[in-house]
Amino acid sequence: MNKDRKTIAIDMDGVLADIEVQFMDWYESEYGIRVRADERLGVPEPEGFPDQNAIKRYVYTPGFFRTIPLMEGAVEAVRTLMEDYEIFIVSAAMEFPQCLSEKMEWLQEHFPFISWKNIIFCGDKRVIATDYMIDDHCKNLDFCMGKPILFHASHNVNQHHHLRVRSWNEVLDIFEKENAAKA
Ligand SMILES: [Mg+2]
Repeated sequence: MNKDRKTIAIDMDGVLADIEVQFMDWYESEYGIRVRADERLGVPEPEGFPDQNAIKRYVYTPGFFRTIPLMEGAVEAVRTLMEDYEIFIVSAAMEFPQCLSEKMEWLQEHFPFISWKNIIFCGDKRVIATDYMIDDHCKNLDFCMGKPILFHASHNVNQHHHLRVRSWNEVLDIFEKENAAKA
């Protein structure tokens, strides 16, 4: 770890991995219905789908986490951020212990340039002491020690107490400004 560099904790699901699209795809292939994002605004993830048990079932199904599509622009943005910051991938993966190896394989496939030393699979994220945290859940950001950044998701549209970004381009804009302020 380079002590001169500030640190950023980056969440996986809903930030690097487009879990909303995965939920919609899996739900559609099982039930034949596409439940669009605009039909689920402000609703917790499982409750946004007509069969509310489906989502809870998917997150325990082998292969679910391994095959989540990438969030647009995530790989390029993380590479860019790594030029000036130390990046930690921080996932509360202990909630679904069967996903640990799948998440590790997913990261090795899409982010092979991130060392295992910079990957933290944990329970409660309050112990994470990075300078910044990017996450789609306020429950993780509300108590974080660094500067919180809320990644936009259908379930969090009504939460306004953190700086919101709607895309990885917006994340890069924020850190460009941080860099300019530093210089
Ligand atoms: Mg998340």
